[in-house]
Amino acid sequence: MKTMLIAGYDVTVEKKNIKHLHIYIKAPDGSVYASVPRYMTEESIRLTIESKREWIHKHKEKMGNREPQCAKRFESGETLCVWGVPYRLALLPSKKENKVTLSEETLFLQVKEESSAAQREKIINEWYRELLKKEIPGLLQKWEPVMGVHAEDWQIKNMRTRWGTCNVREKRIWINLNLAKKNPVYLEYIVVHELCHLIEKSHNEVFKKWMTYYLPDWRNIRKALNER
Ligand SMILES: [Zn+2]
Repeated sequence: MKTMLIAGYDVTVEKKNIKHLHIYIKAPDGSVYASVPRYMTEESIRLTIESKREWIHKHKEKMGNREPQCAKRFESGETLCVWGVPYRLALLPSKKENKVTLSEETLFLQVKEESSAAQREKIINEWYRELLKKEIPGLLQKWEPVMGVHAEDWQIKNMRTRWGTCNVREKRIWINLNLAKKNPVYLEYIVVHELCHLIEKSHNEVFKKWMTYYLPDWRNIRKALNER
């Protein structure tokens, strides 16, 4: 299973032994799924789903177009997203170490029975942080040589209002922890955006031109990210 950003939607794509592509919208949150034949290429999956944009839009509207309810108490049954895919949270009371594991549809949190919501949130946020720590170096290795810049340092921060920031003078970038909840496309966009500040400090026309040069689809990605 993987998530693809198609027509502005995070689509969870699963290859199966079938003849035709099926799209379905899952209740209650309106997330978009597609079962696709094994032989289908990424390009033709993309084209087929894009051609059904109207249908997807209509059905999501019907469902209220709601994003999954964010976990608030970090209790079993709540929904948590990992790289854009929703998982059901299941607590596993334990006396042993805290641990997070993912199965196909469930995020298991092994934690002390008497833990508080804040403690559980902290454990899960640390786990999200680890996911990002594994992902970001590869993105920097991919983009720094292409863009001809180098970030001296990067950090992950749980920020409320921004997806990333760049301290141009110190060449340090900060990435929002919450990007681990979203389709990896968004993380890559934010990394490129922050690196682009090492070329051009402000969000002026020059900045936008470089963004378009490196990530031609950046406007759509930004729009989709800020709608969620
Ligand atoms: Zn910026």
